[in-house]
Amino acid sequence: MYDIIIVGAGPAGLTAALYALRANKKVLVLESKSYGGQIVNASLVENYPALPNISGFDFATNLYNQVKDLNGEIKFEGVIRIEEDKTVITHKNSYKAKAIILATGAENRKLNIENEEKLVGKGVSYCATCDGNFYKNKTVVVNGGGNTALEDAIYLSNIAKKVYLIHRRDIFRGEEKYLSELKEKDNVEIIVNSTITKLNGENKLESIEVKDNNDTKQTIEIDGLFIAIGQTPKNEIFSNIIELDEKGYIKSHDGVHTNCDKIYVAGDTRVKELRQLTTAVSDGSIAATIAIKEMED
Ligand code: NAP
Repeated sequence: MYDIIIVGAGPAGLTAALYALRANKKVLVLESKSYGGQIVNASLVENYPALPNISGFDFATNLYNQVKDLNGEIKFEGVIRIEEDKTVITHKNSYKAKAIILATGAENRKLNIENEEKLVGKGVSYCATCDGNFYKNKTVVVNGGGNTALEDAIYLSNIAKKVYLIHRRDIFRGEEKYLSELKEKDNVEIIVNSTITKLNGENKLESIEVKDNNDTKQTIEIDGLFIAIGQTPKNEIFSNIIELDEKGYIKSHDGVHTNCDKIYVAGDTRVKELRQLTTAVSDGSIAATIAIKEMED
């Protein structure tokens, strides 16, 4: 019997573990992939207070080690179901706790176009910092208009020969600072009001079909496509008991409690205004503190 089971070892989940362990609680963190969540893909985190130049990987590793140093138990087992009685079922085992914190983050959104799935790892990537080095002196496309796409395009412009940034609108969600930096780069071309409709290539990506708002089509020959069009949550497995919004994010009236007693939520996976590292760790600390308080009430 654990005091708290935390589902997800990203910044929110690991911060929740840190707070619960420091309160001397028996904690289990369950993670289906590797620790760190999406922040491991950020080459540089520039907006975390007081840590102006830390890589996402270093941030995640420091946090993971902080939890391990407190003898935190982290098991790499994918959760397949939770029950209202606070049972957590994974592919391998079944665990029980007094409280559960759901901190499952989100995963990369797919374009869902022809050949996308087939060409993943063969020219199609969702992580510039992971795969960028394969494209030294080559031609790549980054798709998206948020901070991830802008940062990816900047990162790749220092590796690739040519970078196209393709965005479906002419207004960017990403910060102006990144956009201005990109506009200064000789090897970056920004294509707005355009969507990618098809990928061409059998065993390797060769070109993409692009259509603009006037229905004008063009084919661009490229070596790599980096899809950075946001994230979607992965909360289907909880929908037997947990209320989700229409996009699949976990609903919470106060940002911590779910509709189930002693099942809490933290981080990107909940309905919220701002999905950032700062808000994820904040959520994790609050969820753990409230879970502990309500356990003891
Ligand atoms: P995002 O801000 O949600 O942006 C997603 C982008 O993809 C938007 O421009 C969106 O276009 C576009 N898009 C969505 N679905 C699409 C589709 N089916 N086809 C084509 N384009 C599509 O996602 P993000 O850039 O990954 O960022 C997520 C969060 O992390 C944000 O809060 C961001 O600020 C934060 N972040 C911060 C940093 C940093 O501060 N260093 C770095 C990375 C990310 P529309 O605009 O037209 O909807």
